[in-house]
Parts: sequence; C-alpha cells; structure tokens
Amino acid sequence: KNGGKKEAHKASFEIDLPGAEIGKVVTRFPPEPSGYLHIGHAKAAILNEYFAHAYKGKLIIRFDDTNPTKEKVEFQDSIIEDLALLGVKGDKVTYSSDYFNEMYDLAIKLIKDGKAYCDDTPLEKMREERMVGDKSARRDRTVEENLKVFTEDMKNGTEEGLKNCLRAKIDYTALNKALRDPVIYRCNLTPHHRTGSEWKMYPTYDFCVPIVDSIEGVTHSLRTNEYRDRNPQYEWFLKELNLRHVNIWDFGRINFVRTLLSKRKLQWFVDKNYVGNWDDPRFPTIRGVRRRGMTIEGLRNFIMAQGPSKNIINLDWSVIWALNKKVIDPVAPRFVAVDANNAVPVKLLNGPKEPTTEQKPKHKKNADVGTKPVIFADQVLIDQADAEGLTENEEITFMDWGNVIITKVVKEGEIVKSIEANLHLEGDFRKTTKKITWVADTKDKVTVELVDFDHLITKDKLEEGDNFEDFITPQTEFHTQAIADLNVRDLKAGEVIQFERKGYYVVDQPFQEGKGAVLFTIPDGKAVAKY
Ligand code: ATP
Ligand code: MG
Ligand code: MG
Repeated sequence: KNGGKKEAHKASFEIDLPGAEIGKVVTRFPPEPSGYLHIGHAKAAILNEYFAHAYKGKLIIRFDDTNPTKEKVEFQDSIIEDLALLGVKGDKVTYSSDYFNEMYDLAIKLIKDGKAYCDDTPLEKMREERMVGDKSARRDRTVEENLKVFTEDMKNGTEEGLKNCLRAKIDYTALNKALRDPVIYRCNLTPHHRTGSEWKMYPTYDFCVPIVDSIEGVTHSLRTNEYRDRNPQYEWFLKELNLRHVNIWDFGRINFVRTLLSKRKLQWFVDKNYVGNWDDPRFPTIRGVRRRGMTIEGLRNFIMAQGPSKNIINLDWSVIWALNKKVIDPVAPRFVAVDANNAVPVKLLNGPKEPTTEQKPKHKKNADVGTKPVIFADQVLIDQADAEGLTENEEITFMDWGNVIITKVVKEGEIVKSIEANLHLEGDFRKTTKKITWVADTKDKVTVELVDFDHLITKDKLEEGDNFEDFITPQTEFHTQAIADLNVRDLKAGEVIQFERKGYYVVDQPFQEGKGAVLFTIPDGKAVAKY
C-alpha cells in the first residue's frame, strides 16, 4: 500500500556536513533545563549524535542554563534520564553556566572595543525602536559609563542595574532585524540552580551560544532553521571576539498536527491540571509517548526516516505510530479481551464439565514469544458486537479452539442477552466466515480498564495570532471496561501486548486483586479519530 514511501528502517542520511573531517567533528545538543524533552528535542539529539558518530567525532550534551527563572534541577535530571532512554550518550556533559566568567570577560571586551552599550530605554520603547530601526538614545554612551553600569550596577543587580541591559552595537538599521543591536546581557535576581546568587545578570541565548560553541571546540553547530536570521549575528560575535570559527548547519523543526511542542505551553497544561504531569500519555514528551506505548526503536526509526530535512513540517501522528506498529507487531504477545459492556454469556452445552487448561503460543507467527495457558470452559463470554449478527444453526469459529454451532440466541430488543451453542470441533475453520474471540467465564478472568486518548487541542495547525487556550479539546480521555483472559494478571507496567481483533495496548497499571489492570490503547497509525 505504501510502496512509494521510503523505507524507514536503518536509513542513513547520506548527507555531508560541510568541512567535516573524520575524527574531528564535534557536535552538541543544547537543551535548556526548562522542561522535559519532547519529540522535537529527540530529533535534535539524535541528529547531533548521528553526525558525531558518522564522523567518529564527539557529542557534547550541554545544558543551556542561562535563564534561572525557567530552569530547575528536576528538568535537568529528567533530560539526562530521557537521553539515556533514547540511547543518546554524550561524550561529556557541560553547562553554559560553566562559562559565566568567560562570557563576562568577553562582554567587557566588547564594551572596551566600543561594540556594546548599556541601555535603560524602557522595554516597550526599545522594542518599538528595534521594529522601525531607530537609534537608542543610549547608543553613544562612553566606554567608561558603559563599564560602570555593566560591572557595577548590572553585575550587582542594583536598582540602576535592573533598569539596564547590555546590547551589542551591530547595526540598528540592518534589514535583518536580528542585527539591530541585540540584547546580550540582562539582570535577573532569581537564584540560579547551579550558581545560586553569585550572578545577578545573565547572558542571553544569542550571546551565549556562539561563545560556548567556540570555546568547547564545537565544529558543527546544528540549529533549527527558525534561527536562520540570527546566523549573521552568531558570526558577528565570533568575529568581533576573535573566537574560533564554527560551522552552522540548519535543519527543520518537526511539528505534529494538533500538538504543542513548546515547553512553556506544555507547562501550562501541567499547571492547569489538563494532564497528570509531563509524562502524560497525551503529551509529546519522550516520557509521554513512551507511556502511550511508543518504543525507542520506533521513535528512532521515525527520526532517521525524517532525516535532516530542512522543511518545517506539520506531521500527522499516524506516520510515527505506523512505524511503531512495525516494531511491536512481531513481538507483542497476544491475549484476549471482550468488551465488558453487555458481554454475552455463551453456554457450550457439550463443553468441558470442568475447566481445562492448555498451553498455546502467545504469538501465532513468532514462537519465540513463548506460550501461555488458555482456559477452556463450558461458559464463555463474547463481545456483544460479535453476538449481534449470530443466528440459530449458524456455524462459527472460536479462535484458538474450534467450530461452534449456535443453537439458541436470547435477545431483549436488539441486545443479545445469552447464547447456547454446541462445540463442533470436527468442523472446518476454513469454511466459517466468523472467527471470534472469547474468554472463559471462570474466576480467573480479569477486569481491565482500557483507556484511549485524543489530542489536547482541536486545531491541526495553530496560526500566528491564535491563542492555544482557545482550542482546548473538551474531552481527551476515554475509558472502557473489558474482561480479559487470566494472563493479563501477570503483565507488568510498560509491557506491550495485543488483544486479538482489538489492537495494541500498553500496561499502565498492572493487575491488582480487586482493582483490575489499566491499559492504554497504542495508536497503530490506522485508526482515524473516533471521537
Ligand atoms: P521550547 O520552545 O519548547 O522551550 P526550545 O527549542 O527552546 O523549545 P531547547 O531546550 O532550547 O528548546 O532546545 C534544545 C534543542 O532542541 C535545540 O537545538 C532546538 O533547536 C531543538 N528543538 C527544539 N524543538 C524542536 C523541534 N520541534 N524540532 C526539532 N528540533 C527541536
Ligand atoms: Mg531554547
Ligand atoms: Mg523555543
């Protein structure tokens, strides 16, 4: 069916990094510890790792921790764990905050060279001036004045310091607005999670990244291409500060339909209790998609299939889930569950007087998955949906058992209340059209809660100016009760299974006596929104 599509597995990008030499490439993945990693970060991390490996070079994991207002140790720890989960191992872990002294000295150098100035223009006015290309009233401050404001007022976070920021003196009329004297330092009195209250001002992203990339020996700085306008600025800093050249290499961000990939917005969903936490199965975080049943192999195959595409794409989730299905289908053990709502009792008149147990393969096409006990009894349960079409004298097949001839169907209106039937094991299962699943109605059966989810927002692609809070899906969690075979008792959290004829599930809460088990539906890339 998808013959034309590129096969995802083990794809290599067949792309060269400009100026890359075997053994000398250094890349870096620079997450800000201001949230949990999401699937977009996974792309960046895996790409950086890919190139580091492909050129037998090194990968640096760098915490870009220059904004204490948003950053926390909790996020930092989770990022380390999630990278390990993704199988991305850096050759070293560093922190932008390790270089606060160097950046401070370099800022002073810029001031002394007349290439930076302190500006206390009110925020709104400064924004306006940058928009229209006006000169700041403070642009011609003397070096002495700038040094005093920066190294005394701003450094100590005084009242005067707080009014100021430090700006690079590039070109306030530049067509590229990123060059209109960008802010490179601003005060923040919030204690930093690593340096405490040692610093009262912090470098901005724009100033920090080129400096740290250069100091750390990065040869190729992979950046998502929404930063393309800022590339000349990056290069300006390297040149003016006499720092080693770094190659910038752009790649496209990934986005998904009806999905937010901004840590700030995801934090909002957590704060408003729309989701349980950052590992919520509705979240596009690594933890969220894992909890929903995404395998690391499926995720990596997906990223590799995307390659380093420069297009900013709005992907449908079905693509990644279809790849995941290819990973889980050959190995997920198969069990049986029937919908608890109006499950139909079937009395097998000639069935076994006492329940008997037999070992059956857990996976019909893969013996390596092992075997499982199946209980056969003269009372079984089937799905209402399967029972509805059945008529007396009809011959059908009970999967993993044999043929059955229906002798009586008791209905109340359209609802089937009970069925009687005779086992007809000599019958040929190839001649029946209905092959249905069943669960022995013995004390061993297990109640399970099946949970399915919808996207958190209702609009495929939020446009500039849309407020995401106006597009919240009212209901995103759907629960159904089912009755499953005894094997579900032994499943552990995180195990991925198939319920035959229903789909794939991941165990979220294992079975507990009196509480049942909770399983989440794993999208298989086919199901279109049911709600
Ligand atoms: P957010 O807006 O959610 O805070 P960010 O881009 O600021 O995200 P960082 O922690 O600074 O998050 O990002 C670390 C790396 O991940 C950066 O190189 C960034 O470009 C990359 N990245 C973030 N989101 C995506 C995405 N959707 N697709 C590809 N790469 C991404
Ligand atoms: Mg960022
Ligand atoms: Mg961002």
